[in-house]
Amino acid sequence: MKFYNLKENDEVVSFSGAVKQGLGRNQGLFFPESIPSFDNIEQLLAMPFVERCVKVLHPFVSDDLSESALSKIITEAFNFPAQIQPISENRAILELFHGPTLAFKDFGARFMARCLQTFSANKKITILTATSGDTGAAVAHAFHGIENIRVVIMYPKGKISLLQEKMFTTLGGNIETIAVDGDFDDCQALVKKAFDDKELRETIALNSANSINISRLLAQICYYFEAAAQLYRQQGQAGLEDLVFSVPSGNFGNLTAGLFAKAMGLPIKRFIAATNSNDTVPRYLQTGEWSPNDTIATMSNAMDVSNPNNWPRVEHMLRSGIVDKNCVSSVSIDEEQTQMTMIALAKLGYISEPHAAVAYKALQYNASETEFGVFLGTAHPAKFKEVVESTLGQPIALPKELADCATESILSVDQSNEFSDLRAYLLAGN
Ligand SMILES: *Cc1c(COP(=O)(O)O)cnc(C)c1O
Repeated sequence: MKFYNLKENDEVVSFSGAVKQGLGRNQGLFFPESIPSFDNIEQLLAMPFVERCVKVLHPFVSDDLSESALSKIITEAFNFPAQIQPISENRAILELFHGPTLAFKDFGARFMARCLQTFSANKKITILTATSGDTGAAVAHAFHGIENIRVVIMYPKGKISLLQEKMFTTLGGNIETIAVDGDFDDCQALVKKAFDDKELRETIALNSANSINISRLLAQICYYFEAAAQLYRQQGQAGLEDLVFSVPSGNFGNLTAGLFAKAMGLPIKRFIAATNSNDTVPRYLQTGEWSPNDTIATMSNAMDVSNPNNWPRVEHMLRSGIVDKNCVSSVSIDEEQTQMTMIALAKLGYISEPHAAVAYKALQYNASETEFGVFLGTAHPAKFKEVVESTLGQPIALPKELADCATESILSVDQSNEFSDLRAYLLAGN
């Protein structure tokens, strides 16, 4: 299968090309030329996890990876579970935070790192990425120690939690981190500028590990199938009826992957894209007007995005009929509701964190009692220890992954949000 540039449709590349390039010309996102679909979903759902992932993903990557090469990558990358936990009779959480950095981004980052390593042979490349929190950790851990790959991660200084920061700024080696004087959208804009700079891009062989990279999205399709497989195993066909996913959304990569899964035949009735107060998308779906406001800092900081970079993919799928245009609704949840929801979930016996709480609340607003609502648990509550403890008034134990880095020191450099500073830094270290 080939991938084409959504902005400049004549640019067509293979999977390996899309992975290595990240973004196409004119900042266009790559999109598969067709979406494979499966009619015998039940047979697929009955398969063991790795085998099913290979079946689901191989059509996308078959130009570049054999089934056995893909199987090896998946076995290594997805070496931790995605787990459905019931919350109430018709609500459940899909826990995606059991990987090494305790966030769902481990799925995409670990898959991408192994693909890139396979495709780049021994050529030196630079990964430049912006993070609003969890991407940084997932990317840093996924690429740490891989020869010939230099990783530079930018994040908004002072706008992510200390533990989040420690998870990716303390590794050293091939992982370099920059604390930018600005917000996440500034960091994202700097990445785009670097990609637009042809000379820089070629000199340092630039790549991005942001969720614009198609490999990350493809990886994420797998856990939607896994969620359905677990429901099917528990409840048979009934477990797949009126299935609604509520996705806590920032850059809308997670939602994009879910829409792919639906287009491939997975019986998902519809999606709710849950945002925090950064509500560009819910306002857009209501008014038809795309008018991003300034980014607001919230408790669910990994979703503090006002110009979501995967939206063009979602828009394309809705407009072109790849998925039904009414299958996505979007709800914005404010800070107070988020906190109240964490408390409500704790009363149901489930300790959550702000991102999952936003998604659960959106379900409660938007899904009916007859629908079965699954909300995505994108991060471990301990990653948001301060806010979880102050909201619930009870201590949260640190899992080993976090306890280990909490005592290390931060190795970041501080920088302005001027592109010229970033450019000089990248060239100097090459
Ligand atoms: C990145 C992230 C999100 C948002 O995911 P997108 O794919 O960017 O929409 C939600 N929750 C957490 C914890 C995250 O790290």
